[in-house]
Amino acid sequence: MAEVRRVAVVGGGITGLAAARFLGQAGLDVTVLEAGAGPGGKIQTRELAGVPVEAGPDTFLARVPWAVELCRELGLGDELVAPATGKAFLWIGDRLRPLPERHVLGVPTALVPLLRSGVLTPAGVGRALLDLVLPKADLGADPTVAAVVGRRMGREVVDRLVDPLVGGINAGRADELSLSATAPAIAAGAARSRSLVLGLRQAKAGAGGPVFLGLAGGLHRLVDRLASDVTDLRLGTRVSAITSAAGIYRLECTPGPDADADAVVLTVPSFVAARMVATVSPAAADHLARIRHASVVTATLAYRPSALARPLDGAGMLVPRIEGRLITACTWSTSKWPALAASGLVLLRASSGRDGDSRAIDMDDDELVRGVHEELAEALGLAEKPVDSLLSRWPRGFPQYVAGHQETVAGIEAALAGDAPGVLVAGASYRGLGIAACIEQARRAATLLTT
Ligand SMILES: Cc1cc2nc3c(=O)[nH]c(=O)nc-3n(C[C@H](O)[C@H](O)[C@H](O)COP(=O)(O)OP(=O)(O)OC[C@H]3O[C@@H](n4cnc5c(N)ncnc54)[C@H](O)[C@@H]3O)c2cc1C
Repeated sequence: MAEVRRVAVVGGGITGLAAARFLGQAGLDVTVLEAGAGPGGKIQTRELAGVPVEAGPDTFLARVPWAVELCRELGLGDELVAPATGKAFLWIGDRLRPLPERHVLGVPTALVPLLRSGVLTPAGVGRALLDLVLPKADLGADPTVAAVVGRRMGREVVDRLVDPLVGGINAGRADELSLSATAPAIAAGAARSRSLVLGLRQAKAGAGGPVFLGLAGGLHRLVDRLASDVTDLRLGTRVSAITSAAGIYRLECTPGPDADADAVVLTVPSFVAARMVATVSPAAADHLARIRHASVVTATLAYRPSALARPLDGAGMLVPRIEGRLITACTWSTSKWPALAASGLVLLRASSGRDGDSRAIDMDDDELVRGVHEELAEALGLAEKPVDSLLSRWPRGFPQYVAGHQETVAGIEAALAGDAPGVLVAGASYRGLGIAACIEQARRAATLLTT
């Protein structure tokens, strides 16, 4: 690859903005091309009842360094806030049951809390215990979450514990998701020992402190800070295609002018990137188009405190897919983030929609608010209707890392390296969809272009 001086970053979400920062720090000229009117992509803080509420993510993983370090570098270290509680519940049948303490992404690692929670039937507990004696089985090169956990601990552990967590985080299905791509901690436990439980117990205790952190005032502060440091940020600029001539890449932009660069970092979702690279690398476009995405809607509903018989004691609840409900999870926002209580209302943020379930995204706003409220009223005993609401739709918002995903990503990278050196992909569609993983991918892309 010829010397890189000018880089075009396509997409001004967290991956694109972080990549722009790292590339700028390495002394390169960077232009960020973002279709939206503002920066941030999926990170969008809005306002409801006078307080900031997150339309997209509300926290990032704090047990890995990338997001926390970036916040500190940007002078936001003192603004990091931990949720007031980590307690969560599962809505199973007609009641809420506590998510048992001591688990790894839903795989229980201690018997007593599991029994106490009542999440599994006695037969389900018996089946889970077989993990300790069953022989090891060969489940192929890239087994799904359900294949590994189900084989060792039975279907109930998959349906009632692991699918709500791993499936919930990914808006996907444990039956389809790649274990190594979506739950590497479980994969490591499975590799460590014949018994999954014993393998997970052998894992070194992680660093202390909160697992997740948010930012006081909202996560938009992170992307706003990053965006304010980008010297050439072109908002409202949609890139449609990339062509190449004499070692220079030309990005077709609407509105123009087109942008020229020595290298390109594509941080848009893979189905968008597929169209962009169709001319310079049909093979990469083919791989990119294979990654499917699920649609999700978040609905924050505001209630008068009198709607609740008693305060909610936890950060929220997860709803197993087998329950067939519209909502997949609900963050009890005012309990999780006490600062939001300044609204004087109780804020509940429900998520709906996952891979294979497009009911929510297909509903109109009124239908959605009504459907979400009816389920929340049933789960939490709400006696009144919401007084306000905020809906955010995320069509094709969640990439599905199904079995074979990492091979697909390797195929994309190899095709681009061969056909279009200097064109890289990074972001949620590829090597981790969480904010921290996106920042790590941004750093990796910057390193590849500067070393
Ligand atoms: C509802 C929801 C809740 C989530 N919760 C969490 C959470 O709690 N914790 C967590 O860590 N992660 C969470 N995530 C995941 C995380 O927010 C995203 O994976 C991450 O923010 C994606 O960042 P990105 O930069 O890769 O992509 P995006 O944020 O999607 O950014 C891509 C950008 O590209 C732009 N773009 C698209 N097409 C074009 C084009 N043709 N030309 C120019 N620009 C274009 C888009 O406008 C967008 O700004 C959540 C996601 C959602 C939707």
